[in-house]
Parts: sequence; structure tokens; C-alpha cells
Amino acid sequence: MDIATTPNAVQNFINGRFKTSTAEKLDVISPLTGSTISAVPLSTATDLDEAVKAAKNAFKTWSALTLKERTQYLFRYRNLLIRDRDALTELVHLENGKTLDEARAEVDKSIELCEFACSMPQMVSYEVQEVSKGVECRIERKPIGVVASITPFNFPNMVPNWTIPNALVLGNCMILKPSEIVPLSAIRLAELLKEAGVPDGVFNVVNGGREIVEAICDHPDIQAVSFVGSTKVAKIVYQRATANLKRCLALGGAKNHLIVMPDAQLEMTASNVVASMSGCAGQRCMAAAVMIGVDRVQPIIDRMCEVARAIRPGHELGAVISAEAKKRIEAYITEAEQAGAKVLVDGRNATVPDKEGGFYVGPTIVDYVTPDMRIAQEEVFGPVISIIRAKNLDEAIAIENASPYGNAASVFTENGGFAKEVMERASAGMIGVNIGVPVPREPFPFGGWNDSKFGVCDITGKSSIEFWTQNKKTSVKWNPEAHTNWMS
Ligand code: NAD
Repeated sequence: MDIATTPNAVQNFINGRFKTSTAEKLDVISPLTGSTISAVPLSTATDLDEAVKAAKNAFKTWSALTLKERTQYLFRYRNLLIRDRDALTELVHLENGKTLDEARAEVDKSIELCEFACSMPQMVSYEVQEVSKGVECRIERKPIGVVASITPFNFPNMVPNWTIPNALVLGNCMILKPSEIVPLSAIRLAELLKEAGVPDGVFNVVNGGREIVEAICDHPDIQAVSFVGSTKVAKIVYQRATANLKRCLALGGAKNHLIVMPDAQLEMTASNVVASMSGCAGQRCMAAAVMIGVDRVQPIIDRMCEVARAIRPGHELGAVISAEAKKRIEAYITEAEQAGAKVLVDGRNATVPDKEGGFYVGPTIVDYVTPDMRIAQEEVFGPVISIIRAKNLDEAIAIENASPYGNAASVFTENGGFAKEVMERASAGMIGVNIGVPVPREPFPFGGWNDSKFGVCDITGKSSIEFWTQNKKTSVKWNPEAHTNWMS
């Protein structure tokens, strides 16, 4: 695909056209090989302003279309995602480093997200009631205006599609600011939206890093900001956007705990836990980071080690995003080992033949981790699971709930009573029972609790409708002869 292999190819997409920014550029590096595949402009507030002006102008006609009319564009976009499924998969693989199967699953999820947006006319209808004789009150959901979506590196295709279809179909115009580490998929999405006939200015991409994020938070004509990334930056964005009186939904990092009870089904649990911690090289905000083994779970840990050892970096396991990420992940493992933890499966110093420049860490299982260790507390974001031993379920839930994060928590058990305890008491937004990656699928919404999310609403599903619209409340009387009361 040309866009991915031509150096200096990434441009901004403003008002339906590619636009070269004069800003300084950053190399885009493929984690698969460590080689430079493109360059991305670190755009400035001036570039953003041009995009916001285009979006504001487009909003007048886009928001005036009916919901059913806007949905037609999303149907076409969804069909183009299906047509280009293989090429989009290759692009995610190339720029992010995840395996082709994982990249394909990401594109498939984008298609599902679009299908949800296409069903919006079935879900969003107005409410009308005769509240007094002859007087009607109605509620309509209206778009909010120009909105921005700021996305992370780990899902270059899917996370932008968490917001694009729903925000657009509900009548908003968008500025997407993709991660500067993986800008290629976003540009391709812009091309597909244009091919789907989405009018100029409705969807814009402005590339860059911190400067452009700050400019988004400050821009007076952006009404809402959606952010997905680390907790550190989520807090900055939430504080800055809301201080500028915008609505903001900022999803942050995670430290997901899986509680494994001794009665858990051995084979399913071992394979699910390993898949959760190693899938997408552990760079999922829903990845298992800590397994809390309750009482006698040694057979399950032994089987996990066998499953993990069979996973080959560069084949079933993709690369981590950068050389710095590899160094950081390996440092967490070494520090835990030095503090007394036992590395049962060691993924440090992994290399892949013919891809020696790539950034690979093998699946790693670290046992006898204690809750005070950094590896147990901080987001490692690599294919690493820490095992903490607990005497009983109460202790396990207390360890889980001591984490400041709250994205996901799971329990593996055959016992409904244990499962119910975790479902009720775990302080996390998404709970799994015998599921290692408990991502809710459409129409159920995605979003964590605590330091994993700032702001109300969730980012997908029905909950996102609230975020992307505002209610207009109208009271109407057409019949002056009607019986009067205090309202009429
Ligand atoms: P990140 O926070 O470094 O970057 C996210 C976005 O913020 C990028 O577009 C980046 O350009 C911008 N940014 C980075 N530093 C900034 C700064 N100082 N000021 C303003 N903007 C800045 O996150 P990442 O490394 O790209 O992604 C990984 C993180 O995202 C992990 O913490 C992961 O858990 C989290 N994540 C969370 C979810 C969720 O649903 N909660 C989903 C995906 C990823």
C-alpha cells in the first residue's frame, strides 16, 4: 500500500483534501522490523484552526440532514471497510506490530462499530407526551457541533472507530487526532469516508502530538473532546478541556486483575489467562496484568507456563510498540526478580530471525509477586502477567480493589457464588466471568471506572448517544380552546 511505504507521505486531511503541514516531522517506525516506514507532521494550532473552520462550516448542512440520511453514508463506509478488510489489516500489522490475526480482529470490530451506528435510527427516536390537556412536551436529540477525538497507539483502526461512526451519524463534525506513533490507518479511514460520500469538512484528521492535543482542549469552537490513552494524559486532557467548558470523556490506562479460584476449569482458564495477557503483546487496555491465584492453583499455573512457552514471538505474538517500550517492560521484570519474585517464563531478550531490528518481548509469567511491587501496581503494557497468591476470595477482591484503576476484572470459577461475589464487589467498569478479555460487544457500552475513565457516559454503545448529543426540550400548544390549567 503506497501510503505506508512512501516516506513523508502522511498529511493532514482537512475539508476533504490532503494538506501538507509545514510543521516538523516525526519518523513513523514499524515495530515489526524497527525500520522507518513514513513520517508524520507534528501539526500546529494553525493547522487545527483550519480544520475546525472547515468542520464548523460543514456542520450547518450535515446537522440539518435527517438521522436516516446520515446513516446512508455510514452504510457505505461500513461496506468499504469490508471491501478493504485485508489492506486495512496489513496496515495495522505494519504500523502497530500486532499479528495479522489480531489486526484482522481489530478491523472486524470496526465493522461491528459501524453496524451499530447504522442502527441508530432504530434506537434514537424522540419522546413526545401530552403533559397537560392540549400541551405536548417533546425531547429531541441534537448534535453538539464540532467534536474532537484523540486516540492512542494500540488500536490504530478500532479506537478511532469507537467514536467516528456514532459521532458523525448523530450529526457532529469531527477532528481526529490519531496517535503520532500510528498515523497511517487514520488517514486511510479518512479516504474511505470520503469515498463513502461524506461531505468535505465533516471528518478531518490533524496529526501531531502534545501541542495539537492542547490546542484541541483550548479551541473555542470545539464543543466536546473524547480521549483514549494513558491515565496521566487522560487527566491532563480532562482537566484542560473541562476548564475550557467543554464536555469531555477521557479513558485512561488499566491494571486488570484476574482472580483464579481453585475450582476453575484447568484448560480453559490457563489458555484464557495467557491469551489475555499476551494478545496484542499485552498492549490492550483490557489485558490481564495480574492474576490473583486463590489457594491451590498450582496445576493451572503449570499449564499456563506450558501454553505460554508454545507462543513464538514474531508468529503467534506480535511486537511491542517501540524500543523504549521493550526496555521499560524488561526493566519491570528484572526489578521484580531482584525483589524476590520468580520468573517462570521469561520473555526478555526475545529476537525474531530476519527481524532483528523489531521490538519483541516473549510471554512472561512472574510468580510470587507481592502487592507492593511496582510490577503489581503500575501499567506494564507488555505480554507479562504477575501472579499474586491469596488465601481466599475476600483477600483477592481486596487486592483487586486496592488498584487505583478500574477498567476490567475477571474471575475464573465453576462456582456461581464466587462469581456473584466478584460481579458485585469488584471496583471495575467491565467484569468477566470465565472470560479473560471482558470487552462488551455492541450494543453494550465500553468504559472503565476509577482512574481508567474520567467523565460520564461510556465511549461506545447506547451510552455514547448521550455524549454525542444534547437534548432539546420543546413544549407546544396548538389548541387555544383546550381546557386550561397552570401550564397552559
Ligand atoms: P498516551 O496517553 O501516551 O497517548 C494518547 C494520546 O495522547 C496520543 O494521541 C498522544 O499524541 C497524546 N499525548 C501523549 N502525551 C501527551 C501529553 N503530554 N499531552 C497531551 N497529549 C499527549 O497513550 P498511548 O501510549 O498512545 O496508549 C497506551 C495507553 O492507552 C495505555 O495506558 C492504555 O491502557 C491506554 N488505553 C486505554 C483504553 C481504554 O479504553 N481505557 C483503550 C486503549 C488504550
